[in-house]
Amino acid sequence: MKHVKVAIIGAGSAGLSARREVGKKTDSYVVIDDGPLGTTCARVGCMPSKVLIDIANKYHSRKNFENLGIMGSDKLSIDHKLVMKEVRKLRDRFVRGVTEDIDSWQKTNLIAKRAKFVDKNTLDVGGEKLTADHVVIATGSSPITPAPWKPLSKYFFDSDTFFELETLPKRIAVIGMGVIGLELGQALARLGVEVIGVNIGKATGGLTSQKVIESAWEHFTSEMQTDDSGVEKLSEKDGHLVVTTKNGSYEVDKAFLTLGRSPNVRNMGLENLGVDLDRRGIPTFDPDTFLIPGTSIAIAGDVNGIHPILHEASDEGRIVGYNAVREKNQCFKRRTKLGITFSEPNIATIGKRHAELIDAKVDFVTGSVGYKGQGRAIVKHQEVGELEVYVDKTSHKIIGAELFAPDGEHLAHMIAWAIAANLSVYDALSLPFYHPVVQEGLRTALRAAARKINSTSDQLELLRCQDPPVGG
Ligand SMILES: Cc1cc2nc3c(=O)[nH]c(=O)nc-3n(C[C@H](O)[C@H](O)[C@H](O)COP(=O)(O)OP(=O)(O)OC[C@H]3O[C@@H](n4cnc5c(N)ncnc54)[C@H](O)[C@@H]3O)c2cc1C
Repeated sequence: MKHVKVAIIGAGSAGLSARREVGKKTDSYVVIDDGPLGTTCARVGCMPSKVLIDIANKYHSRKNFENLGIMGSDKLSIDHKLVMKEVRKLRDRFVRGVTEDIDSWQKTNLIAKRAKFVDKNTLDVGGEKLTADHVVIATGSSPITPAPWKPLSKYFFDSDTFFELETLPKRIAVIGMGVIGLELGQALARLGVEVIGVNIGKATGGLTSQKVIESAWEHFTSEMQTDDSGVEKLSEKDGHLVVTTKNGSYEVDKAFLTLGRSPNVRNMGLENLGVDLDRRGIPTFDPDTFLIPGTSIAIAGDVNGIHPILHEASDEGRIVGYNAVREKNQCFKRRTKLGITFSEPNIATIGKRHAELIDAKVDFVTGSVGYKGQGRAIVKHQEVGELEVYVDKTSHKIIGAELFAPDGEHLAHMIAWAIAANLSVYDALSLPFYHPVVQEGLRTALRAAARKINSTSDQLELLRCQDPPVGG
């Protein structure tokens, strides 16, 4: 029976990060994955979706050309087959980047099979037994199709199958307007597909602030048909799919199911570990080390369901890989929370969200700004959006933000870095703001928060010569 120090199940972003850390210390490891290799992010996730979104946004911008004096946009048309071909071309490039790296070690350390636990240290890998001192479960997650809908499967695609479409259907229902549904639903609408986006409620992109939610939903409703009353029934009529909600009924060619993802733990023999499994079939684990108590098994990346986004999955892989080859487990601090939806404008949540602060009864103030009338937004013809920044009333530290704003991806990073650097609202206001930029909107929000803390302050937003530098 083969024995290794570390067995990593799953060659996705988390598994590959774990491998990198393990490989720094030992060659006694295997990565087990029966493919397709290349990671969810590069194959069917972050990257192909962003390519599609970028093409869609470029095409959509023609709608304002005449107002700008750029004539002839009515002669532009879109070839969906070529769009999908271009998406796949770039997708393949991203996947190659991953598989070329795998090529450098796969001969000796990759087992292209499925893994199943026999017990805490023994795996059945395609019929052969393998023992390991440490095991990393990094099997990711898969799109959900509700069981009662399965008889209508021929009408569905999901993010695993979408990027293989030769061309785009004429009418699509996007069911579930979370991050993935909103991003791809808006892109499809901008590419000229008739989209009905169905959701339960208006909250999308992880937003919890009612003001920001309303602003975002109103905007997306101006670009595509939306229905926030939830699907009641799906049925078939004359070769079409009928989506019935509380508020209406929509006949479409296809439905894009974006209802969330479930952890890839089926048929992995987790029941053979003798540990508690939650209702999703996930073993209970320590949220700092990702270790399953009483075992040397760690669970990292989307499969554990904590932060199903790329940089978090990679971090978790690094943490469990690092610890798997050391005597003592090191606890690592997590980065400031950051979630971005690449809708246009972008949505982002940073640090603590509004609802989390309310639930935790934190004493905080909200500084807000609307992007209607904001200088840079006017210049960019993108006068839409809301940004809220949350500041602790006692410490004056910036603790969170939610936004739906032009260039929100960049604003979100600045706010995340300010929170990570433990900046107060006054520290942040002393930093440079160029003119004219969307960041001046953030400054307006910070000023509003500062005024709520102290409405009579006569201080300039400049450090005095005797003050220590920000972060110093
Ligand atoms: C459409 C879409 C858009 C996204 N956009 C973004 C974005 O813009 N930004 C962002 O941060 N995140 C985004 N994400 C999320 C991001 O892709 C994931 O967080 C990340 O890919 C998770 O990595 P992972 O290693 O946990 O899983 P994966 O990359 O899915 O890896 C899991 C691996 O495990 C293998 N496997 C499964 N079961 C077994 C088994 N029993 N035995 C052996 N191998 C097995 C699979 O073959 C796979 O290779 C997006 C996701 C989707 C679907």
